[in-house]
This record gives sequence, structure tokens and C-alpha cells, in this order.
Amino acid sequence: MLEIVNRGYVYRAAPISHEVEMYLRQCFGADRKIYNLHVAHLYDYLEKNNYQIGDKLPSLKKMGMPPVSMFKKQCVNEDNVAYLYLVDAYASNEAKQHFNKAITAFNKMAYKKQYKKSALKRQKTLGIEPTFRDLKGMPKFHSRKGSKLSYTTFNQNGNIYMKEDILYLPSAQKSSVKVVGLKLNRHRPLPQDNKIKNVTVTMNTKGQFDVSICVEFPMEIESIGTPARILGLDYSQSHFFVDNEGKKANYPHYYREMEERLAKEQRVLSRRKKGSKRWEKQRLVVSRLQAKAANQRKDWLHKKAYALAERYDMIVVENLDLRAIGQNKYYAKNQQDNGFGHFRLYLTYKLEQRGKYFVKAPKNYASTQLCSTCGYKNTVLKGNKNIREWDCPSCDSHHDRDSNAAFNLKQYGERYTKEKILPQTVVV
Ligand SMILES: [Zn+2]
Repeated sequence: MLEIVNRGYVYRAAPISHEVEMYLRQCFGADRKIYNLHVAHLYDYLEKNNYQIGDKLPSLKKMGMPPVSMFKKQCVNEDNVAYLYLVDAYASNEAKQHFNKAITAFNKMAYKKQYKKSALKRQKTLGIEPTFRDLKGMPKFHSRKGSKLSYTTFNQNGNIYMKEDILYLPSAQKSSVKVVGLKLNRHRPLPQDNKIKNVTVTMNTKGQFDVSICVEFPMEIESIGTPARILGLDYSQSHFFVDNEGKKANYPHYYREMEERLAKEQRVLSRRKKGSKRWEKQRLVVSRLQAKAANQRKDWLHKKAYALAERYDMIVVENLDLRAIGQNKYYAKNQQDNGFGHFRLYLTYKLEQRGKYFVKAPKNYASTQLCSTCGYKNTVLKGNKNIREWDCPSCDSHHDRDSNAAFNLKQYGERYTKEKILPQTVVV
């Protein structure tokens, strides 16, 4: 069956001229400026309306956020030019969407009411009371320095297109830069008959450009029919995952190994004078190490997901709330290191494009508590993570906590195939 699928392709890219590079930098700036104007308006609103810690943030409408067009008119440079008209119009609208997402994300975790560590330290040492600005997750001003810069632009009427190895992006009517091109390092081709939906341009701290091209294209997907080889995977804090045969993923803790080195380099950074040349140099060392760890992790996740998708017809995982785990202070670091969320995502599409099945067992399916031999529900295990092995009170079977859970997940997948009802592929 021919299906339309969406995929993102990331390429290292170089602006075709110095003017283009300046133009792109201006787009990053416009994006940041609009975002920061939104943040300033929010802070202003919260102060005037006597915001109490623990309250939800108001919607854009409630805080009387002016439209993007008004912000654009207000931003005039010393030559009296409304400079936000000199850049891609989509960049500024995108900034508004980002801000809106930040509000939603904060409201989801607002009950936490936690201050940032730095604010608490300041309170201890200098006696400065923290304010709502110091709350964790509160939208904050984007700084020009020390972060990845980006902007996103959308394809409309073919204003984004590829010609040989150059990607052309829309310019602004009032800009003097008419042709915005980036030469791509095309290490892999874009799929046939693709339609470009949008492009995000980013510049890392080293000043290198990357483009992420989101394309839509038709793909021939042949369903494999009834799955024969089914695998259950149970998420594990220490092993990444354990499968129904008790095999562990052997996740290499790259990041942890590198942590010591990273901590050392960060200590060096903290001793240098902020903003100085030597500080800037050291900052690059740190960010390079962080990027390396992230790349290693991603590479491993892709390879593992590829191997499993090749080997099995159906993979069943539990429906975990990864956000909740990430917020638990004891697990948070391990969780971020693991990237199980990404792994599920990779599995989903790698299986999907092979006409195979990815299944998330429903939240109420107690894969951990059920005895995989007789189906007895052992509620003692609930919330008690210290019990690694147990004997079933009903049938006396001896179980390893993780592989028992994985086996239950496998059985959950088999249930469908026995009843001849194939589950829908669930997108994480
Ligand atoms: Zn049992």
C-alpha cells in the first residue's frame, strides 16, 4: 500500500555567501527578539496581577498579548527602520508558537513550585528572595550567547526548494539579500518525489550551520500480515531494557563515563572570567564534549532499534509516563542519559516502514505485577522497586522482576494475534 509519510533529514550546511550568513543570523535574532518580547509581556502581566507561586500561567489571550505584527512595527533601529521586516516573516510567527509551548509545558509541571538551584543558593548566600522568575520551567529570556540559535520557515508555493546541492529558503520582501542559499553536505539523498514541508536552520556554538528538512513523501509499505516473531521489552533503569528472554540491552553509559571528564572541564570553565577569551575557548571544549556524548547516544539508539526492527515482527512496550520519571530526582539523570523516549520513537517508524507492528500496552495493564505463568496479580510489587525477584504465591513460579514484565508484554501482543485482531501501530 502506498502511504504518505513524514520524515526529517538533517544536513550540515554552509551559507553560499557572507551576506546569506548575515541574513541567517538576523533571522535567529528576529526569532529571539520576538520570543523575548513575549516573555517581557508575560513578566509584566504577572507582576501587575500579583502572581502567586503555584498558580497556572494565563493564556496568551488572557494576558492580552499583542499580535506579532504589532511587535514587529515597534522594533525600530537607530536608522528608523522596522528591522523585523528585513527577515523571513515565518521566523517571528514561529517564535510565538515556541512561547506558547513554553507556557503549556510550565502549566503541566506548575504544581512542582520548585525554584532553581541557583536562586536558592543566592537566597542562602546573599539573602535575595527568589521570585516567580526563578521558578523551574518558567519561560525565560533567550540569550544571544552560549546557546544554539535557530529559526524555522515553512514552504509555501514552492518558496523552499533544492537545486543540486543547494537549498534555497525564502527571503524577505524588504531585505537586500534576495537569494538565501545553503550548500548541503548531502551524506544521504532525500527520498524520491518528496515535498518539503518546513526547514529549521540552526547554528551551534561553534558557528556551524545545520538544516533539518521535514519532507513528506509516498512510501510503499507492505504489511507482513500476522506477526510471527513477537518481542516484549520492559524499560529498566539500570539496563535500559530487558526483553522477555531476560536479555539485557547492555546500554553503554557513554555519558556517565564522560561525566567525570565533563565535570573537570566545567570546573575549569567556572574558574575563568565569564566573557573572556579564555572562558570562550573553554566553553567550546565543554559544548563539544556534550555534543559528542549526545551523538554517541543517538547512534547507539538507532543501531539498536534497527537491529530489533529487522529481527522482530511486533514489539510490545509498556505505556510509561517518561515525563514523570524524568522529574523524579533520583532517576532523572539516568533517564536523560538513556533516551528511552527517543528509542520508542525510532522503533515506531522503523517497524512501520517494514509493515510491522509497534504496540504500547495500555496504562492499566499491570505488566510488572502479573505472574506470567498463571496470571495471578501480585500487588505487593506495586511501587516497590526493591523486589527484584519473587515467587508467585499462587503457582510457586520463580520470577525475575524485569523479564517477567517483558514476558507479560509479549503475551499482551500475542493475545491480539490469537484473536486475529491486529493492533494499530501506536505513535509515541
Ligand atoms: Zn503464578
